[in-house]
Amino acid sequence: MAVVGVLALQGSYNEHLAALRRIAVRGVEVRKPEQLLGLDSLIIPGGESTTMAKLANCHNLFPALREFVSGGKPVWGTCAGLIFLANKAVGQKTGGQELVGGLDCTVHRNFFGRASCLLFLLQLQSFETELSVPKLAEKEGGNDTCRGVFIRAPAILEVGSDVEILADCPVPANRPSIIISSGEGAEEEVYSKDRVIVAVRQGNILATAFHPELTSDSRWHRFFLDMDKESQTKALAALSLSSSS
Ligand code: GLN
Repeated sequence: MAVVGVLALQGSYNEHLAALRRIAVRGVEVRKPEQLLGLDSLIIPGGESTTMAKLANCHNLFPALREFVSGGKPVWGTCAGLIFLANKAVGQKTGGQELVGGLDCTVHRNFFGRASCLLFLLQLQSFETELSVPKLAEKEGGNDTCRGVFIRAPAILEVGSDVEILADCPVPANRPSIIISSGEGAEEEVYSKDRVIVAVRQGNILATAFHPELTSDSRWHRFFLDMDKESQTKALAALSLSSSS
């Protein structure tokens, strides 16, 4: 039976563990590098990515997380977890934060709202919307829509050619305009498209800007578990190929 690690430094890790229990999958909390050993896959939950990065640094987790991602086992980042997995993040209030990387994309940390204290307290930047995700229906049949819960959510501005876009959504009309890049000598560029990417897959990496673990819909967790099965089948095939040669 697959053992799914859930990075348990901060944020919605308990909700992911509960979602895994609902589909009878064993999830374990991960706080130390050695706890990544022996896992079949890993979920990096939503939360607050700067805080999560600071805690990950305190526990010396970054090298082990990078090794896990590049090792090819399935990894799913939700919201702050997506930010962690991106190769490039923009929109930080202060000069950047450490990222795990691996996902060939540029993410805006606070695309759907600014990190202002008042807005944070009022949770004005949080919203729910219906998303169309044909891949979910392809796997399980039925409806291709799912409820996207966005909490001060990031969004993906650009993806590389190996990245498959699973879902996008309209940019809310009342969202304050955001600057994609700024800083010394950099040109300022305002996001002007009317849709933005919110879910992607690149090989062993799945990333969603929203929080499926906060809904009762288990399809995203099952989708991720299927990636786990795919990767185990590939590992077994590689093993039998090397033992027969
Ligand atoms: N925008 C947040 C950040 O910068 C992420 C929000 C979330 O995970 N719900 O970390």
